[in-house]
Parts: sequence; structure tokens; C-alpha cells
Amino acid sequence: MSVNILFAGHSDRWPEYQPHLQEALDAAGIASNLACDIASDEVDYVIYAPNGPIEDFSPFTRAKAVLNLWAGVERIISNETLTQPLTRMVDAGLREGMREWVTGHVLRHHLGMDAHIVNPEREWHHVPAPLARRRPVTILGLGELGQACAEPLVSLGFPVTGWSRSQKEAPGVRCLAGDEGLTEALTGAEIVVLLLPQTPATENILDAERLALLAPGAVVINPGRGPLIDDEALLAALDSGHLGHATLDVFRVEPLPEDHPFWSHPKVTVTPHIASETRADTAAEVIVENIRRGEAGEPFLHLVDRKTGY
Ligand code: NDP
Repeated sequence: MSVNILFAGHSDRWPEYQPHLQEALDAAGIASNLACDIASDEVDYVIYAPNGPIEDFSPFTRAKAVLNLWAGVERIISNETLTQPLTRMVDAGLREGMREWVTGHVLRHHLGMDAHIVNPEREWHHVPAPLARRRPVTILGLGELGQACAEPLVSLGFPVTGWSRSQKEAPGVRCLAGDEGLTEALTGAEIVVLLLPQTPATENILDAERLALLAPGAVVINPGRGPLIDDEALLAALDSGHLGHATLDVFRVEPLPEDHPFWSHPKVTVTPHIASETRADTAAEVIVENIRRGEAGEPFLHLVDRKTGY
């Protein structure tokens, strides 16, 4: 019997996803009808992306799972019509992309590259950077992406501290957890990378009080989600000189409105939610593995916990 798989991601991404999904389905020996348009009550699996065409999941009466193409689930988790199991994206493409983006932005600030890249006055800025081993970096969130980003930073020599809800162990990383752990993780940090999910517990986690714990001149790098940071407190800390810079990839409203102060602030770099994109080839393998599991009656990978919200 054929498995009905609905692609309910962005329609413009369908031509990119279709061949990779079909190839992975064929390789797994799953006879399927993969399409963008299937009667709701005949759908076995929904491949979903936020801003896609579905808002009401109740007509999907026989769906065995909703397979989210994004790592973050904050836009779908509170949908009361969603009663099916929900999985999120964990794959090699997201890990590699995030590792590259975070390492690049950490090195930009660590090495003080801006002074040489944009130097219209032709000033001889002879300010060598300290070695990485003298630059404490803290990663908030030691999950799939936080741990992936810690690896290259540890190998470059940065003293890396990671913070998570449950106690973790990661090679070369000082792992902390809980409220006291957060204070310790932030105290004296010179670069902070946010890779937490957006949940009620993480909203505004980087507020004025916690920003004050960072070392003078510290840099905040946020590829996690906009609401993790109290924007007003961030701007105040930048304006007072306590913070050196903020590189922000994610915002409360996206695209970032044209008149938002982040755009014009000299100490803010805005990137347009590009830190790590879900790539069709690597994502297709994970999606199809979950469909294979569903058909075999095996537990799904990367199930979202509705209680914690991630
Ligand atoms: P994971 O679920 O694997 O990791 C989340 C981490 O955050 C875990 O270590 C978790 O702790 C920790 N955490 C969650 N809640 C709390 C809390 N209340 N207090 C302390 N720690 C907490 O997620 P990923 O690593 O896959 O992704 C992280 C986020 O990155 C996504 O949710 C998404 O928002 C963002 N993202 C951004 C992209 C971009 O392009 N900008 C691309 C992809 C993802 P524990 O380990 O104990 O569970």
C-alpha cells in the first residue's frame, strides 16, 4: 500500500525538496504518493514548515506525524489543533551551517577584523588580538547546535563554557546547568552565543541584569531566536559602552522592520535569519527515516516535548 505524504512547506521550495525526498523514499523502499495536494483525511505524514499553507491540523485525521522542517518549533507548538506527534529538524546540514556561521562571527570579533576590513582613513591599527585561549566564550544552549558549535571553538583553543537545562558533558567544554550555572556561565564571558529554543522559560533570558555580568566590551551573538534577548536592555548596554557589539540573526519581528534601531546602530550587525538553513538533501534523509520508523512502528526521532516546548 502506498503511503500518502503531504509536502506543506513553502511551495517555492517544493521543486528543490521533491527530488531529494523521492530519492530517499525510493532508497528506503517506501512506496509513496508524495505531493503538495492530497485530501486531508488521506494524509499519512505532513511535512511542515512555519508560514506554510496549514493552520488547522484537525482534518488530518489519519496522520501519524507532523514532521517539521525547522529546528525551532515555537510557531507550531501552541497550535491546539495539532494533536499528532510532532518532530523537529535535526540534521547534518543544520549542524554544519550553524558551526560555520558561529565560528566565523566569533573569529570576526575575536580578531577585531572590522578595523582592517573597513578602514577608509588608512589607519595603522596595530592592535594584535589575544590568543583564543585568553578569550572566554559562553554558549547558552548545549543541544544539537550548541554542541556542534562548541567543537571548533574548543579546537581553536577558546575556553568554552556551555549552559543547558539538564547537566551535559561535552569534550573540552565547561558544562553548567540551572540558575546558578547561568550566572557562572555569563560572569566574565567575552563572547556569548545564544542557541536556546524560544520557550516561555527562555524569553528575555538575556536581560539587563544578566548582560551586566558579561565582561566589559563583550560581544553577543544571537542565532537562536529574537525573544531570547531583552532588546531595550541590549541597546542600553551597547550605548553605555558595556557591550562592544551584537551580531543578531533572529528578531521578534522578521524581516526586521526598516525603522528598527538595530539597523542603524553602529554596534549592531544584522543578518537576515541565515545562520543555518534547512538543506533539502540532508533534511530529506531525516524526514524519510522518520516515515520509515512510523511505518515500522518504531519510535520517531527528534520528537518535540510539548511540556518543555522544544
Ligand atoms: P536543542 O533542543 O537540541 O537544544 C536546545 C538547548 O537549549 C538544550 O541544550 C536545552 O537543554 C537548552 N535549553 C532549553 N530550554 C532551556 C532552559 N529553560 N534553560 C536552560 N537551557 C535550556 O535545539 P537545537 O540545538 O537543535 O536548536 C537550538 C535553536 O537554534 C532552535 O530552537 C532555533 O531556535 C535555533 N535555530 C536557528 C537557526 C537560524 O538559522 N538562525 C537555524 C536552526 C535553529 P537540555 O539539553 O537540557 O534539553
